Amino acid sequence: MTETPAKPPAIKFDLLKVGHCGHPECVAMRGGGLGSIEFPALVGLIEHPAAGLILYDTGYASHFFSETKRVPECLYRLVTPVRLPPEEVLLTQLESRGIAASDIGTIVISHFHADHIAGLRNFPKARFVATQAERASNEARGRWGQVRRAYLRGLLPADFDSRVTWAEEMPAPLAFPWPGFGVGFDLIGDGSLVGVDLPGHTASQLGLHFRGEEWGEVFLVGDACWKIEGLEQDRPPARLAYSLFADGAAYDATFAALRELAMAPGGPIVIPSHCATTWAKLGGTRHIDHA
Ligand SMILES: [Zn+2]
Repeated sequence: MTETPAKPPAIKFDLLKVGHCGHPECVAMRGGGLGSIEFPALVGLIEHPAAGLILYDTGYASHFFSETKRVPECLYRLVTPVRLPPEEVLLTQLESRGIAASDIGTIVISHFHADHIAGLRNFPKARFVATQAERASNEARGRWGQVRRAYLRGLLPADFDSRVTWAEEMPAPLAFPWPGFGVGFDLIGDGSLVGVDLPGHTASQLGLHFRGEEWGEVFLVGDACWKIEGLEQDRPPARLAYSLFADGAAYDATFAALRELAMAPGGPIVIPSHCATTWAKLGGTRHIDHA
């Protein structure tokens, strides 16, 4: 008798925009213009039938501005002008869907750059999932070195260490179904949300792969690629940007693997954290609404 495969859980997903910064296009993609373009800070809102409400990153938050008032942290804000219109504040967007901060059970952290973790302190009940390798590489630097790498330690809640689960310590690593990537981390224990190491931009970025109810296969890839056109046209970031990456060769390997996957027929929807094209195409859905 053949076994009926277990029905995959119905995972709902919406993409939110939580502020943006400006950078020249050529930084994000070789051959781009010198003019400044918008880099939206995109956040994944996920609803899992058993694990509840989950965020992938938090985008910007008011804490970003309070943590960048002094030297050297103010230099970060100077080179990266940030805008966070009131209607894009994450708590406001969640409230409009009938979701309170305390309803968010888990926040998956792609990496510890300020534009991804600025809102962590707003979610007192959430547990965090991140890679230990990423955290360790940030903590190893002094204050100036941390700012240069866009890490603002004050953005972490005081009790962060007691609330974090390290992806590397999840039992039973999964085989990630696409070539060019390492093992997958089973983030909630049922195989449905798979963390994938995407090294290069930082020491160990955590991508998130799942099959969404309305979307099919989705792969949130953080800053492993800044614009989807970069993958489609094989145009990685400008050489200048590599001076801020943790490992240029690893970045290129991750980028090449993502390109294969983004171009593969039947491949997942690849969602970079700062891609305005992706936002224009996929933003604005409201599959998760408790209001
Ligand atoms: Zn970023």
